[in-house]
Amino acid sequence: SVPASITSAISAGTRRGLLIKGGGALETIGSVKTIAFDKTGTLTAGKPKVTDVLGQGLDRTEVLRLAAAVESGSSHPLAKAITQAAQESKITVPPAADAQALPGKGATATVEGRALSVTSPRHAATLAPLSAALSGAITSFEEQGRTAVVLLDGQAPLGVIAIRDEPRPDARAALVQLHGLGVKTVMLTGDNARTGQAIARDLGLDVQAELLPEDKLRLIAELKTQGGVAMVGDGINDAPALAQSDVGIAMGGGTDVALETADAALLQERVTGVADLVALSRATMGNIK
Ligand code: ADP
Ligand code: MG
Repeated sequence: SVPASITSAISAGTRRGLLIKGGGALETIGSVKTIAFDKTGTLTAGKPKVTDVLGQGLDRTEVLRLAAAVESGSSHPLAKAITQAAQESKITVPPAADAQALPGKGATATVEGRALSVTSPRHAATLAPLSAALSGAITSFEEQGRTAVVLLDGQAPLGVIAIRDEPRPDARAALVQLHGLGVKTVMLTGDNARTGQAIARDLGLDVQAELLPEDKLRLIAELKTQGGVAMVGDGINDAPALAQSDVGIAMGGGTDVALETADAALLQERVTGVADLVALSRATMGNIK
C-alpha cells in the first residue's frame, strides 16, 4: 500500500498546482539527474508573433496571404502566428487544398493551383539554394532569437517570415532553482541552432537544436544511460519523449495528448513548478527513509 506521507504529498502538490499522477512519479522526480525541456510552449509562452515579413519578387502582403493559406489548417504555434498576422492585417486568405504537415519541417498545401509550403530554412535549402539576401536576413533574425520560416512555391523561395516567441516570465528563475538543486537542464528543440542558442543563452541552460521528433527520443535514451531523466513538454509532438523519459511532465494548458501521456502536470503553466516537484519529492522521500 502507498505510504500515507506519499498520499499527503500528492494532495499538497495538487493544492499548489502540481498534479502528480502516482506515487512512482513523486518518488522518481526527486532523484533525476537531468531535466530536458521542450522550447515552444514550455520554456516560451507558445504565443509566437510575426515580427518581420520579407518578399522576394512579391510584396509582404502577398507573402503573408499565401503563407496564411498554407497554414490555415495547422495547429502548430508558428502556423497560428502567421494566420493571426494575416487576420490582423485584414488580409483575405484564399482556401487551401491537400494541406499536410511535414513534422519538424513545415507545412504544405495547394493554394490557387500552386504547390506552396512554409518550412524551416534548413528544409528549404535542401530543395533549392536561398539567395544571399534571404539567407542574410534569416541569419540576422535567428541571432535575435527569432524563428524564420520560408514560403516556397514548389522549390522556389518567395519570401521569409520571422516569428518571435517570448520566454515565460519565470523560466529563468526555474532553471536557477533547478541548478541550485543540483539538476542538469537541457532544452530540446526542433528550431534552428542559432535561434535555439540565442534563447538558451538568455535563459541559462544547455541546448540541442534542429531535432526531429525521433532525435529527441534518441537524446532522452542517451541521457538515461547517465541517470534519471525527466522531460517537460506541452505538445502532441512531445508525447513520445514524455513517455520515454523516467518522469514526463506536461505544461498545463498544453495539448490533451501531452497531459494524458505525462506522469505529472503543471496546472498553472509555471515553469518553477518543476523545481517545486523536485523539492516536494525529496522532502517526502527524506521523511520515509
Ligand atoms: P519545436 O521542437 O521547437 O516545438 P517543431 O519540431 O514543431 O519545433 O518544428 C521544428 C521546425 O520546423 C520549426 O522551427 C519550423 O522551422 C518548422 N515547422 C514545423 N511546423 C511548421 C509549420 N506548420 N509551419 C512552418 N514551419 C514549421
Ligand atoms: Mg512545444
